[in-house]
Amino acid sequence: MVTGASRGIGRGMAERLAAEGALVAVHYFNSATAAGEVVDSIRSRGGDAFTLRTELGVPGDAEALYTALDAELARRGTEPTLDILVNNAAVSGSARLHEVTPELVDRIFSVNVTSLLFVIQEGVRRMGEGGRIINISSAVTRVAYPESVVYSMSKGAMDTLTIALAKELGPRRITVNTVSPGFVATDMNAGLRSTPAGAARLADMSVFNRIGEPSDIAGIVAFLASPDSQWMTGQRIEVSGGSHL
Ligand code: NAP
Repeated sequence: MVTGASRGIGRGMAERLAAEGALVAVHYFNSATAAGEVVDSIRSRGGDAFTLRTELGVPGDAEALYTALDAELARRGTEPTLDILVNNAAVSGSARLHEVTPELVDRIFSVNVTSLLFVIQEGVRRMGEGGRIINISSAVTRVAYPESVVYSMSKGAMDTLTIALAKELGPRRITVNTVSPGFVATDMNAGLRSTPAGAARLADMSVFNRIGEPSDIAGIVAFLASPDSQWMTGQRIEVSGGSHL
């Protein structure tokens, strides 16, 4: 299951995991048409996927998500199990310290932190030995980004959760890792890229002098989902084109 797979980085990971042979649950909330297109694109290449619609960041979200997952798996005659959980859905929010409001903190932490915790709690109940949890964090936990201070804090919580759960779930051979992108060309930062000067500023952060693409992230996630990564857990893997080295 890839949360937030209707667009952007999530879509890229869903398509790549399907190409590697996974049956992919394409989770989304508002973008039903886009999520349907992801499933169509996966099926057109011989893969298999289905959509799951749930709002995250509201009470009962994890329960609703897994009720939908279990129902679809039952419809397919499959046990309610989960092998790979990619926690990707998140909200951002540009706000420097003086602009932060309690509402912004509530919104970002509800989706990026509280929901994350309960989606994992419920997910591991369905996970067998050798499962994979991959959390999509951000380079902002290494490079200061005061332009989005609350968002940065929420990704810090995700990094901390990753090491705690890697230890907790090690006896079950479930690995838990964080992938931390730098700027990737998605709707999340379309505003920042809307002028040539803005796009050049983001590209200049990477040693490769370009903005990342979802496919730059998907390959690393496919590796973490594979048996080749079985000895790697509790790690923060930055995939930012060498941003701010
Ligand atoms: P995006 O293009 O804005 O897409 C966000 C996805 O999350 C969409 O599929 C959206 O679903 C889903 N989502 C958002 N809020 C939701 C909610 N409350 N309930 C359910 N689903 C929700 O994001 P992205 O740029 O691909 O980012 C993906 C991940 O990478 C995020 O964790 C982000 O923090 C991280 N990241 C991104 C960048 C970057 O430069 N883009 C850099 C570092 C880290 P619907 O559209 O269907 O509602």
